Amino acid sequence: MPGLAGGRPEQSSLFSTLLEVGVESAREWSRCPQCGFKCRKVWDRRSKRVRDLAVSGRRTTLVWRRRRFWCGNCDERHLEGHAQFEGGLTRRLSRRMVADARVMSIRAVARHHGVGWHRIMALVRAEAARVEKRRRARRCRVLLVDETSIRRRHRYVTVVASGDTGEVLAMIPGRGKGSLSGFFRDQGPDWCRQVEIVMSDGSRPYRAAINQCLPHARHVLDRFHVVRWFTEGLTLVRRELQRRELQRRDPDQTPPAYEPDLFRARFTILRRADHLSDAHQAHLDRLFSAHPRLKVAWDALQELYGIYEAANQALERFADLYDSGQIPEYHDVVDKIIAWGQEILAFHPGRRASNGPLEGINNLLQVLRRVPHGFTNYDNYAARGLLVA
Ligand SMILES: [Zn+2]
Repeated sequence: MPGLAGGRPEQSSLFSTLLEVGVESAREWSRCPQCGFKCRKVWDRRSKRVRDLAVSGRRTTLVWRRRRFWCGNCDERHLEGHAQFEGGLTRRLSRRMVADARVMSIRAVARHHGVGWHRIMALVRAEAARVEKRRRARRCRVLLVDETSIRRRHRYVTVVASGDTGEVLAMIPGRGKGSLSGFFRDQGPDWCRQVEIVMSDGSRPYRAAINQCLPHARHVLDRFHVVRWFTEGLTLVRRELQRRELQRRDPDQTPPAYEPDLFRARFTILRRADHLSDAHQAHLDRLFSAHPRLKVAWDALQELYGIYEAANQALERFADLYDSGQIPEYHDVVDKIIAWGQEILAFHPGRRASNGPLEGINNLLQVLRRVPHGFTNYDNYAARGLLVA
């Protein structure tokens, strides 16, 4: 390590799993914290134990012969510091543990390195705070907002991410209007003005916060959620038919959890008609002849897809025309058209915003949640979420 001399093993045997190494600072002087004088006179030495990275699988402790200097200027004594040591850990051990915490549970990191859980969590939080501060200082053109839960369907967290970089900017407790508007308030009006597009999941509280704090930004409802709204009706019809079918077959017995034929089609039936293979289409046709009501619901869903696609395509064609610069008189009209229905149409002139990064982030957060089998503490989840996504 830079700035250290020595390195002789102490109290170590061939069979021990622990290694202790004596070290001293190679620097000949220390600056007085009282008056800034460069002190060279050593008053005495004290041993301080500093945990370091394992050496060949053995937990290693540096026994630092830490000098107390005497100041010739103000007659005070002080203990020397060292840039590589902080609070009984070497910086390289701290860095390694924070890196390990991205893929392991804190408990596993604690066991692996022999350092306390709370100590590691404090390092992780400090690193997450640094990361969050850095990310939130940068301007953000496309903002993504979504909710996730600490555990499955249990205590919600608002995730704010940058669509420009795909990185999480903040994880805020709750999913109400206050959660999001508090974030915007913290970011300040200058930062908020730079946001051009916001993608959200269509929750009313988020929309209220966005309308209030980012009135100039285009608010876009992400495609995934539009489709989920569209498919809700069809899913209800399918479930109702499943239940009825099962009771018809066996009115006395407790029915199994699902009616296999209908249940097997639960994903196929939500697809767009032009994305279906022949085999899938044949399967659906069989179901439709048995359940005419399902066919009606399916046709309605395909209509919705059609409206969505047609509107998107039409607006895109219009935007291309407008972008060509031949009709500047349309400026106001374009603004109005885009304001109308923008939340449904996920549209932006010249480029479509994408919630792709948010899906990636959600996957990472889901994996993270599985590591410790769910989080109970919001702060821990937020700190670790910022480090993985
Ligand atoms: Zn001094």
